[in-house]
Amino acid sequence: MTRPVYLDYNATTPVAPEVAEAIRPFLYESFGNPSSSHVFGQHAKQAVLQARREVAALINAVPGEIYFTGCATEANNLALLGVAAKAPVGRRHLVVSAVEHPAVMEPALHLERCGWELSIVPVDARGRVSPAAVATALRPETALVSIMYANNEVGTIQPVAEIAALTRPRNILLHTDAAQSAGKIEVDVQALGVDLLTLAGHKFYAVKGVGALYVRAGTPIGSILFGGDQEHGLRAGTENVPAIVGLGAAARLARERLPGATAHLRSLRDDLHGRLAEAIPGLVLNGDPEERLPNTLHVSFPGVIGRELLEYARADVAASVGSACHSEHDTVSGVLAAMGIESVRAAGAVRLSVGWMTTKDDLTRAATALSGAWRHLVKQ
Ligand code: PLP
Repeated sequence: MTRPVYLDYNATTPVAPEVAEAIRPFLYESFGNPSSSHVFGQHAKQAVLQARREVAALINAVPGEIYFTGCATEANNLALLGVAAKAPVGRRHLVVSAVEHPAVMEPALHLERCGWELSIVPVDARGRVSPAAVATALRPETALVSIMYANNEVGTIQPVAEIAALTRPRNILLHTDAAQSAGKIEVDVQALGVDLLTLAGHKFYAVKGVGALYVRAGTPIGSILFGGDQEHGLRAGTENVPAIVGLGAAARLARERLPGATAHLRSLRDDLHGRLAEAIPGLVLNGDPEERLPNTLHVSFPGVIGRELLEYARADVAASVGSACHSEHDTVSGVLAAMGIESVRAAGAVRLSVGWMTTKDDLTRAATALSGAWRHLVKQ
């Protein structure tokens, strides 16, 4: 039996063969603990240093500004709670957008429960935060703004550099969750002007369970894990050497493949959109038509429930109705609700995300299956 076409690259990506190859020796002969002074340990330590250089090069940072974590969720928690730990008394106000992933929203709400003031900035109908709305939310007590680089559901890209132009002169720290951006679009911490930035290995062809936080040199940040002095004392715990080596290899691949990969993903995604739009009158695009991740197609199918559509087409297509964490529930996604999308349109929404391994044949099969499923369900 042939497997369905995988169109859920925003949930996770397969591991690139080059990444798997890079990891292999670190599962077997090069198994040392980087903190050990003997040859096994020193070999592992060098590999971690090399991975740090690769990740830094991908985002135009310096290696000492990269901290490896167990996932993007941990990197986001470290950014928010770590900055909060060092914030001066009297600066306990935090700004986030209404469409943040729970990995930012939940630590923000936790800080609010701990006595911080929290402002949640709205988005427009395309899922964009307006810099003017951020400016309005800023106060003399604001310590940190956290606005994601690109949304995991609809793919809308936020005007992070414009927001940095507001926070920097006011001496307010800016964090961006770029978990969905690496490997799809350029991620440059200097051009973005951010102080902290989150990466997720398994969203760009590394393994699950590894991430990184960029922390601009000199940014006051405290630890949220207490133990050994790994990661310059900011993230205690023996390094996951194989996963970190894989993250480095994935960063190198992403750097080599961009910007070509961006254009390639866009052409695949737009091809799929064109086929679906032709077959399905009334198909509506959600998210920003232009300022959007090149691989993400979030569309509402008229007159059907997105979850039922994917269920019907499941032999041919593997995709999600929203982010992976919401796909088992029929509640309207918080992102679509924040964009003011009414419930019928939200119910018909499906997120199709392509990746480096997607082929034109995949798109033909997926478009045929999805439009066939839609025709079947609207007739019922
Ligand atoms: N941030 C964003 C934007 C994401 O899309 C995700 C994963 O879906 C995460 C954070 C959390 O990643 P992880 O589950 O690997 O910690």
